[in-house]
Amino acid sequence: MGACMSDEDKVRGRQCTHCRSHTRLYLCNDCGSAVHGLLVGALVHDLQGRVVNIEPGIIWHLNRLAESQWGQARSGSSGKKQPGSTVLLGDVRAAALDRRIHDTLSQWATKVAEHCAVPFMPLRSVAAHFIGPLPAGWRRLPPDYRVSSADMVRWLADHVTAVMAEPDANEFYDAMTTAVAEIRRIIDPASPVLIGLCPTVIGADGGRLARCSAPIYGQRDDAYLRCRRCRQVHAVADLYSLTADRIRGELLSASQMWHAMHLAGVRTGSRSTFFKLLATRVTPHSYGGGQHQGSDTDRSGDGSCERRRSGRPLYRYDDVLAVLQPHTA
Ligand SMILES: [Zn+2]
Ligand SMILES: [Zn+2]
Repeated sequence: MGACMSDEDKVRGRQCTHCRSHTRLYLCNDCGSAVHGLLVGALVHDLQGRVVNIEPGIIWHLNRLAESQWGQARSGSSGKKQPGSTVLLGDVRAAALDRRIHDTLSQWATKVAEHCAVPFMPLRSVAAHFIGPLPAGWRRLPPDYRVSSADMVRWLADHVTAVMAEPDANEFYDAMTTAVAEIRRIIDPASPVLIGLCPTVIGADGGRLARCSAPIYGQRDDAYLRCRRCRQVHAVADLYSLTADRIRGELLSASQMWHAMHLAGVRTGSRSTFFKLLATRVTPHSYGGGQHQGSDTDRSGDGSCERRRSGRPLYRYDDVLAVLQPHTA
Protein backbone atom coordinates (compact mmCIF):
# COMPACT_ATOMS: atom_id res chain seq x y z
CA MET A 1 0.00 0.00 0.00
CA GLY A 2 1.68 3.19 -1.02
CA ALA A 3 0.67 6.79 -1.04
CA CYS A 4 1.93 8.20 -4.30
CA MET A 5 3.25 11.64 -3.61
CA SER A 6 6.30 13.61 -4.46
CA ASP A 7 8.80 14.16 -1.64
CA GLU A 8 7.81 17.79 -1.69
CA ASP A 9 4.22 16.81 -0.96
CA LYS A 10 5.30 14.68 1.94
CA VAL A 11 7.02 17.45 3.84
CA ARG A 12 4.54 20.19 3.15
CA GLY A 13 1.81 20.08 5.77
CA ARG A 14 -1.74 20.76 4.71
CA GLN A 15 -5.32 20.65 5.91
CA CYS A 16 -7.62 17.67 5.65
CA THR A 17 -10.00 18.48 2.80
CA HIS A 18 -12.82 17.01 4.85
CA CYS A 19 -12.44 18.17 8.46
CA ARG A 20 -9.71 20.81 8.09
CA SER A 21 -7.46 19.25 10.71
CA HIS A 22 -3.71 19.23 10.13
CA THR A 23 -2.49 16.39 7.96
CA ARG A 24 0.15 15.51 5.40
CA LEU A 25 -2.21 13.98 2.84
CA TYR A 26 -5.54 15.30 1.58
CA LEU A 27 -7.49 13.41 4.24
CA CYS A 28 -6.38 13.11 7.85
CA ASN A 29 -5.98 9.72 9.52
CA ASP A 30 -9.39 9.91 11.19
CA CYS A 31 -11.15 10.71 7.93
CA GLY A 32 -9.05 8.05 6.18
CA SER A 33 -10.20 5.40 8.61
CA ALA A 34 -13.77 6.64 8.29
CA VAL A 35 -13.48 6.05 4.53
CA HIS A 36 -12.00 2.61 5.21
CA GLY A 37 -14.95 1.85 7.50
CA LEU A 38 -17.44 3.04 4.89
CA LEU A 39 -15.85 0.67 2.40
CA VAL A 40 -15.41 -2.55 4.33
CA GLY A 41 -17.13 -1.92 7.64
CA ALA A 42 -15.78 -1.08 11.04
CA LEU A 43 -15.82 -2.54 14.53
CA VAL A 44 -17.46 -0.33 17.12
CA HIS A 45 -15.73 -0.35 20.52
CA ASP A 46 -17.01 0.86 23.86
CA LEU A 47 -14.88 2.94 26.23
CA GLN A 48 -13.28 -0.23 27.62
CA GLY A 49 -12.20 -1.22 24.15
CA ARG A 50 -14.67 -4.11 23.84
CA VAL A 51 -16.24 -4.71 20.46
CA VAL A 52 -19.93 -3.87 20.86
CA ASN A 53 -21.09 -3.63 17.28
CA ILE A 54 -20.08 -4.02 13.68
CA GLU A 55 -20.95 -1.17 11.40
CA PRO A 56 -21.46 -2.65 7.96
CA GLY A 57 -19.62 -1.15 5.03
CA ILE A 58 -20.67 -0.57 1.47
CA ILE A 59 -20.22 -4.22 0.42
CA TRP A 60 -22.87 -5.29 2.93
CA HIS A 61 -25.10 -2.45 1.72
CA LEU A 62 -24.59 -3.36 -1.93
CA ASN A 63 -25.57 -6.96 -1.14
CA ARG A 64 -28.80 -5.79 0.51
CA LEU A 65 -29.41 -3.52 -2.48
CA ALA A 66 -28.98 -6.47 -4.82
CA GLU A 67 -31.50 -8.45 -2.77
CA SER A 68 -33.96 -5.62 -2.95
CA GLN A 69 -33.64 -5.61 -6.74
CA TRP A 70 -34.85 -9.18 -6.68
CA GLY A 71 -37.63 -8.42 -4.26
CA GLN A 72 -36.01 -10.47 -1.52
CA ALA A 73 -35.26 -7.82 1.00
CA ARG A 74 -36.78 -8.35 4.41
CA SER A 75 -39.59 -10.39 2.98
CA GLY A 76 -39.02 -12.88 5.76
CA SER A 77 -40.22 -15.54 3.38
CA SER A 78 -38.18 -17.81 1.17
CA GLY A 79 -37.20 -14.74 -0.78
CA LYS A 80 -38.80 -16.03 -3.94
CA LYS A 81 -40.17 -13.47 -6.27
CA GLN A 82 -43.91 -13.37 -6.16
CA PRO A 83 -45.44 -14.82 -9.32
CA GLY A 84 -46.52 -12.09 -11.66
CA SER A 85 -44.55 -9.37 -9.90
CA THR A 86 -43.02 -7.18 -12.50
CA VAL A 87 -40.27 -4.68 -12.05
CA LEU A 88 -41.29 -2.35 -9.28
CA LEU A 89 -40.31 1.25 -8.97
CA GLY A 90 -37.93 0.31 -6.13
CA ASP A 91 -36.19 -2.20 -8.39
CA VAL A 92 -35.51 0.44 -11.02
CA ARG A 93 -34.13 2.84 -8.46
CA ALA A 94 -32.00 0.11 -6.90
CA ALA A 95 -30.56 -0.93 -10.27
CA ALA A 96 -29.74 2.67 -11.24
CA LEU A 97 -28.10 3.33 -7.89
CA ASP A 98 -26.12 0.10 -8.13
CA ARG A 99 -24.80 1.16 -11.55
CA ARG A 100 -23.93 4.65 -10.35
CA ILE A 101 -21.96 3.34 -7.37
CA HIS A 102 -20.18 0.84 -9.61
CA ASP A 103 -19.16 3.69 -11.95
CA THR A 104 -17.86 5.83 -9.07
CA LEU A 105 -15.85 2.91 -7.74
CA SER A 106 -14.35 2.17 -11.11
CA GLN A 107 -13.40 5.81 -11.70
CA TRP A 108 -11.56 5.78 -8.39
CA ALA A 109 -9.97 2.38 -8.80
CA THR A 110 -8.73 3.46 -12.25
CA LYS A 111 -7.44 6.80 -10.99
CA VAL A 112 -5.63 5.37 -7.97
CA ALA A 113 -4.17 2.52 -10.04
CA GLU A 114 -2.88 5.01 -12.62
CA HIS A 115 -1.39 7.45 -10.14
CA CYS A 116 0.29 4.69 -8.18
CA ALA A 117 1.22 2.61 -11.20
CA VAL A 118 -0.24 -0.41 -9.40
CA PRO A 119 -2.54 -2.28 -11.73
CA PHE A 120 -5.98 -3.06 -10.36
CA MET A 121 -6.26 -6.70 -9.38
CA PRO A 122 -8.86 -8.17 -7.05
CA LEU A 123 -7.23 -9.05 -3.75
CA ARG A 124 -6.02 -12.61 -3.29
CA SER A 125 -6.68 -13.45 -6.93
CA VAL A 126 -4.63 -14.62 -9.85
CA ALA A 127 -5.38 -14.36 -13.55
CA ALA A 128 -7.05 -17.24 -15.34
CA HIS A 129 -3.80 -18.26 -17.06
CA PHE A 130 -1.80 -18.41 -13.81
CA ILE A 131 0.09 -21.64 -13.58
CA GLY A 132 0.94 -23.14 -10.25
CA PRO A 133 -0.61 -23.90 -6.89
CA LEU A 134 -2.74 -21.20 -5.25
CA PRO A 135 -2.09 -20.06 -1.69
CA ALA A 136 -4.93 -20.91 0.71
CA GLY A 137 -7.85 -18.51 0.39
CA TRP A 138 -6.84 -17.33 -3.10
CA ARG A 139 -8.90 -17.69 -6.22
CA ARG A 140 -8.25 -17.96 -9.93
CA LEU A 141 -10.32 -15.42 -11.83
CA PRO A 142 -12.55 -16.95 -14.47
CA PRO A 143 -11.60 -16.11 -18.10
CA ASP A 144 -14.76 -14.01 -18.42
CA TYR A 145 -14.18 -12.21 -15.12
CA ARG A 146 -15.90 -8.85 -14.95
CA VAL A 147 -14.83 -6.58 -12.17
CA SER A 148 -17.37 -6.41 -9.38
CA SER A 149 -18.10 -3.50 -7.08
CA ALA A 150 -17.12 -5.61 -4.06
CA ASP A 151 -13.68 -6.36 -5.59
CA MET A 152 -13.10 -2.66 -6.21
CA VAL A 153 -14.26 -1.75 -2.71
CA ARG A 154 -11.80 -4.22 -1.14
CA TRP A 155 -8.99 -3.02 -3.38
CA LEU A 156 -9.67 0.66 -2.61
CA ALA A 157 -9.82 -0.13 1.13
CA ASP A 158 -6.46 -1.85 0.80
CA HIS A 159 -5.11 1.26 -0.98
CA VAL A 160 -6.85 3.78 1.26
CA THR A 161 -3.61 5.72 1.84
CA ALA A 162 -3.35 6.23 -1.90
CA VAL A 163 -6.95 7.43 -1.94
CA MET A 164 -6.08 9.87 0.86
CA ALA A 165 -3.23 11.20 -1.29
CA GLU A 166 -5.60 12.24 -4.09
CA PRO A 167 -6.30 15.99 -4.02
CA ASP A 168 -10.05 15.33 -4.38
CA ALA A 169 -10.13 12.50 -1.79
CA ASN A 170 -12.90 14.38 -0.01
CA GLU A 171 -15.14 13.79 -3.02
CA PHE A 172 -14.66 10.07 -2.67
CA TYR A 173 -15.50 10.31 1.04
CA ASP A 174 -18.68 12.23 0.19
CA ALA A 175 -19.60 9.85 -2.61
CA MET A 176 -19.32 6.83 -0.31
CA THR A 177 -21.26 8.54 2.49
CA THR A 178 -24.03 9.44 0.06
CA ALA A 179 -24.00 5.95 -1.46
CA VAL A 180 -24.58 4.32 1.93
CA ALA A 181 -27.33 6.82 2.79
CA GLU A 182 -29.04 6.26 -0.57
CA ILE A 183 -28.89 2.49 -0.26
CA ARG A 184 -30.33 2.71 3.24
CA ARG A 185 -33.28 4.67 1.92
CA ILE A 186 -34.07 1.89 -0.52
CA ILE A 187 -33.48 -1.12 1.72
CA ASP A 188 -35.02 0.50 4.79
CA PRO A 189 -37.46 3.03 3.40
CA ALA A 190 -38.45 4.89 6.52
CA SER A 191 -41.43 7.11 6.00
CA PRO A 192 -40.60 10.76 6.46
CA VAL A 193 -40.69 11.87 10.07
CA LEU A 194 -41.58 15.18 11.62
CA ILE A 195 -38.30 17.01 12.09
CA GLY A 196 -39.63 20.24 13.54
CA LEU A 197 -41.77 23.30 13.03
CA CYS A 198 -40.59 25.96 10.62
CA PRO A 199 -38.92 28.79 12.57
CA THR A 200 -38.96 31.37 9.77
CA VAL A 201 -40.08 34.71 11.12
CA ILE A 202 -42.95 35.97 8.98
CA GLY A 203 -43.83 39.07 10.92
CA ALA A 204 -44.39 40.50 14.34
CA ASP A 205 -47.61 40.25 16.28
CA GLY A 206 -47.83 42.81 19.07
CA GLY A 207 -44.15 42.63 19.91
CA ARG A 208 -44.03 38.82 19.59
CA LEU A 209 -42.44 37.28 16.56
CA ALA A 210 -44.84 35.36 14.36
CA ARG A 211 -43.27 32.27 12.86
CA CYS A 212 -44.21 30.18 9.85
CA SER A 213 -44.59 27.08 12.10
CA ALA A 214 -45.41 24.71 9.25
CA PRO A 215 -44.39 21.13 10.10
CA ILE A 216 -41.23 20.10 8.28
CA TYR A 217 -40.87 16.42 7.42
CA GLY A 218 -37.77 14.60 6.27
CA GLN A 219 -35.33 11.82 7.04
CA ARG A 220 -33.17 11.87 10.13
CA ASP A 221 -29.96 11.89 8.08
CA ASP A 222 -31.00 14.89 5.98
CA ALA A 223 -28.72 17.87 6.55
CA TYR A 224 -31.07 20.54 5.20
CA LEU A 225 -34.80 20.66 4.60
CA ARG A 226 -36.98 23.14 2.80
CA CYS A 227 -40.23 24.33 4.32
CA ARG A 228 -43.04 23.56 1.93
CA ARG A 229 -44.89 26.66 3.00
CA CYS A 230 -42.36 29.49 3.04
CA ARG A 231 -39.70 27.75 0.89
CA GLN A 232 -37.00 28.67 3.39
CA VAL A 233 -34.19 26.12 3.78
CA HIS A 234 -33.25 25.16 7.36
CA ALA A 235 -30.37 23.13 8.73
CA VAL A 236 -31.83 20.05 10.42
CA ALA A 237 -29.45 20.60 13.36
CA ASP A 238 -31.02 24.05 13.90
CA LEU A 239 -34.54 22.61 13.82
CA TYR A 240 -33.52 20.01 16.39
CA SER A 241 -31.98 22.53 18.75
CA LEU A 242 -35.03 24.80 18.49
CA THR A 243 -37.24 21.84 19.39
CA ALA A 244 -34.93 20.94 22.29
CA ASP A 245 -35.22 24.51 23.61
CA ARG A 246 -39.01 24.27 23.48
CA ILE A 247 -39.08 20.90 25.24
CA ARG A 248 -36.68 22.04 27.98
CA GLY A 249 -39.35 23.94 29.85
CA GLU A 250 -41.90 21.11 29.89
CA LEU A 251 -42.58 18.12 32.12
CA LEU A 252 -43.28 15.04 30.07
CA SER A 253 -44.42 11.48 30.72
CA ALA A 254 -42.21 8.59 29.64
CA SER A 255 -43.93 8.07 26.31
CA GLN A 256 -44.15 11.79 25.61
CA MET A 257 -40.44 11.94 26.36
CA TRP A 258 -39.76 9.13 23.88
CA HIS A 259 -41.41 11.15 21.11
CA ALA A 260 -39.88 14.43 22.26
CA MET A 261 -36.38 12.94 22.18
CA HIS A 262 -36.90 11.92 18.57
CA LEU A 263 -38.25 15.32 17.67
CA ALA A 264 -35.10 16.84 19.12
CA GLY A 265 -32.97 14.44 17.09
CA VAL A 266 -31.57 12.61 20.14
CA ARG A 267 -30.30 9.06 19.65
CA THR A 268 -32.41 7.08 22.08
CA GLY A 269 -31.39 3.51 21.38
CA SER A 270 -34.16 0.93 21.36
CA ARG A 271 -37.57 1.69 22.82
CA SER A 272 -37.31 -0.98 25.53
CA THR A 273 -33.84 0.16 26.64
CA PHE A 274 -35.05 3.75 26.73
CA PHE A 275 -38.02 2.97 28.98
CA LYS A 276 -35.92 0.77 31.23
CA LEU A 277 -33.30 3.49 31.55
CA LEU A 278 -35.98 6.03 32.35
CA ALA A 279 -37.56 3.84 35.03
CA THR A 280 -34.32 2.87 36.71
CA ARG A 281 -31.94 5.78 36.25
CA VAL A 282 -33.90 8.99 35.98
CA THR A 283 -35.56 10.50 39.01
CA PRO A 284 -38.93 11.90 37.95
CA HIS A 285 -39.30 15.61 38.49
CA SER A 286 -42.82 15.06 39.83
CA TYR A 287 -45.87 12.84 39.50
CA GLY A 288 -48.74 14.19 37.58
CA GLY A 289 -52.34 13.68 36.52
CA GLY A 290 -52.93 11.20 33.79
CA GLN A 291 -55.77 8.74 33.67
CA HIS A 292 -53.96 6.33 35.98
CA GLN A 293 -54.35 8.53 38.97
CA GLY A 294 -57.19 7.97 41.34
CA SER A 295 -59.48 5.07 40.51
CA ASP A 296 -57.04 2.18 40.48
CA THR A 297 -55.04 3.46 43.42
CA ASP A 298 -57.91 3.81 45.86
CA ARG A 299 -58.42 0.06 45.62
CA SER A 300 -55.23 -0.42 47.58
CA GLY A 301 -56.98 1.34 50.43
CA ASP A 302 -53.94 3.43 51.12
CA GLY A 303 -53.87 7.16 50.88
CA SER A 304 -51.67 9.70 49.24
CA CYS A 305 -48.47 7.63 49.03
CA GLU A 306 -49.98 5.06 46.69
CA ARG A 307 -51.70 7.79 44.76
CA ARG A 308 -48.45 9.63 44.33
CA ARG A 309 -46.63 6.56 43.09
CA SER A 310 -49.24 5.61 40.57
CA GLY A 311 -49.60 9.12 39.18
CA ARG A 312 -47.63 9.30 35.95
CA PRO A 313 -43.99 10.12 36.59
CA LEU A 314 -43.06 13.28 34.75
CA TYR A 315 -39.54 13.90 33.56
CA ARG A 316 -37.45 16.83 32.55
CA TYR A 317 -35.66 16.79 29.22
CA ASP A 318 -32.23 17.67 30.62
CA ASP A 319 -32.44 14.96 33.33
CA VAL A 320 -33.22 12.31 30.72
CA LEU A 321 -30.56 13.61 28.36
CA ALA A 322 -27.91 13.45 31.09
CA VAL A 323 -28.61 9.75 31.69
CA LEU A 324 -29.11 8.90 28.04
CA GLN A 325 -26.04 10.39 26.49
CA PRO A 326 -23.36 8.19 28.05
CA HIS A 327 -25.39 5.18 26.85
CA THR A 328 -25.88 6.22 23.28
CA ALA A 329 -22.88 8.41 22.52
ZN1 LIG B 1 -10.09 14.86 8.42
ZN1 LIG C 1 -41.87 27.90 6.69
